[in-house]
Amino acid sequence: MSEIESSYYDVIVVGGGPIGSKTASLISKAGLDVLVIEEHQKIGSPLQCAGIVSTRIEELAYDNLPILNRIKGGKIISPNSTISLRSDSNKALVLDRQKFDTGMADKAMDAGSSISTGSRFIGMEHSGEKVTASIKHGGITQQISSKLIIGADGPYSNVRDANDLPLPQEYLFGMQTEVPLSTLPDLIRDEVEIYIGNHVSPGFFTWLIPTDDNVRIGLCTSGGKYPKGFFYSFLKKLGIMDEISTINSGSIPLGLIDRNYSDRMMLVGDAACQVKPLTGGGLVYGLMCARHCADTAIASLESDRLNKDHLKIYSDLCMDTIGKEIKQALLLRKIFIGLDDNELDEIIHILGDEDLSRFLISRGDMDFPSIASKAVFRKFPKLIKFAPHLLKAFL
Ligand SMILES: Cc1cc2nc3c(=O)[nH]c(=O)nc-3n(C[C@H](O)[C@H](O)[C@H](O)COP(=O)(O)OP(=O)(O)OC[C@H]3O[C@@H](n4cnc5c(N)ncnc54)[C@H](O)[C@@H]3O)c2cc1C
Repeated sequence: MSEIESSYYDVIVVGGGPIGSKTASLISKAGLDVLVIEEHQKIGSPLQCAGIVSTRIEELAYDNLPILNRIKGGKIISPNSTISLRSDSNKALVLDRQKFDTGMADKAMDAGSSISTGSRFIGMEHSGEKVTASIKHGGITQQISSKLIIGADGPYSNVRDANDLPLPQEYLFGMQTEVPLSTLPDLIRDEVEIYIGNHVSPGFFTWLIPTDDNVRIGLCTSGGKYPKGFFYSFLKKLGIMDEISTINSGSIPLGLIDRNYSDRMMLVGDAACQVKPLTGGGLVYGLMCARHCADTAIASLESDRLNKDHLKIYSDLCMDTIGKEIKQALLLRKIFIGLDDNELDEIIHILGDEDLSRFLISRGDMDFPSIASKAVFRKFPKLIKFAPHLLKAFL
């Protein structure tokens, strides 16, 4: 899993994260030669994820996922109000993210992809019928060519920058740790807790996610506020500072990028901002778009039409699948970040209505929340007062 054996491939995928591996795997299955390059020595490391996903992941990823826990509901807690939602069925899964990433890479190799770890993409050039990537491996820079290059290289994509494609509208900054479940005896084993409030995690939320014997505690912030102070003060409040050993951190890109392609290149996953703006989850959207990216790659290589006018079809497919949802979620996010703590309390209080809780449990979709939001605004028009000019779009 580490040497680059050829100087020419049909496709180079930059980034051996789950979305790069999925894309590579689908393209290899069509009989094409794929090289995945990953800058880290070990797939799935360092860990930068809470690992909570909807059950939809089971159709999108692979069989026998490394599932640590199944979640039936949770609480959303604002400074002075709480709403509890609980279903009889599993609503989300908690993954062992490192094993998940390794599993995705194994599937790509089983399908025929080559994966070179410890290999960093540092630039690319177009020349005629090919693109040539400069790849640094073991202190040596190699030139590897392909017909097509796919940037699956995460939030700060170098492939995106090398092609002057648009940046995310904003980045969330996150920190997370894991402590034994026994240190938080009141936490319900199959429920998550989400804390919102400008003194807790401005611009986003704090999470408690039970795994098997542990609980993941993390938060993200935005708007130029860094998470460290908020993170430590939350851990102190929980009285668990002595339990902390490892802390990981990472960024989440948010925005709607439709220009995720250029001549002989496409972006997928976090590199293309295929992330849910309300929760920061990128696995499900990334995997959905990996399918579009691979289908477009296979068809375009077959017809030898790899110019940007033709690859636009990939962007159209992504927009059809997640574009409208991202747009509406960005609107809701805009409203959320403008709310003060009293307004957050008031909203949580309104959403605590029993009928509404039942509706959210039965009809809410954690990957496509705007569908339920529409019904919520129709049922509770008083919510519109929080942003009348913006929320009209939902009526
Ligand atoms: C704190 C935090 C919590 C999160 N929690 C969740 C969650 O609960 N659920 C969820 O669905 N999502 C969550 N996410 C988001 C999720 O982690 C990402 O959406 C997901 O990892 C995207 O996968 P990807 O393959 O596109 O990118 P990545 O997983 O970032 O993989 C990109 C890969 O590219 C490699 N790379 C980068 N640059 C280069 C280069 N120049 N050359 C070679 N390789 C390169 C990187 O090393 C990396 O392995 C969270 C993110 C953070 C930061």
